Amino acid sequence: MLSNKVPHGFHPISHDRPLIEQHIDAYRSKGKLADPTVCPQCSAVFHKGRWQWAETPADANHETCPACLRQQDNFPAGFVSLEGQFLIDHSDEIMRLVTNHEKHEKAEHPLKRIINIDRHEGAITITTTDIHLARGIGEAIHHAYQGHLELQYSPGENQLRAYWKR
Ligand SMILES: [Zn+2]
Repeated sequence: MLSNKVPHGFHPISHDRPLIEQHIDAYRSKGKLADPTVCPQCSAVFHKGRWQWAETPADANHETCPACLRQQDNFPAGFVSLEGQFLIDHSDEIMRLVTNHEKHEKAEHPLKRIINIDRHEGAITITTTDIHLARGIGEAIHHAYQGHLELQYSPGENQLRAYWKR
């Protein structure tokens, strides 16, 4: 096990268990979104209960999507921490996997984005707008390179932290 303390409000989750949480990110939500709503920053369209990439409807309301707000505020929902000698030796390759994973996910789900990638003394921390993206990145690295993966989830905060080490 890694020596990560579980922060208050978080609990560890196992890799093979699906995450049960609210479907719509309520970050800075002013209530129910009108359908359709378009985000003036990224042009994602809220329609039929979810944000998607679509043509902008002529009669759409305008409201910034939760992912743009989280990017703007630098208030991540997901944190992925990577460390270890293997990471240092293969960081370019691993980060290619990370950015490809994001690209692929974002193409389907507009709210799944990387906010920031921070490198500090051989460790890398990736922050995301979405908890599932953080988990997905952790699992993709674990699948490709093994090592040790730990996931912690806070239902109250709607935040997920993934720690990977090799
Ligand atoms: Zn947006």
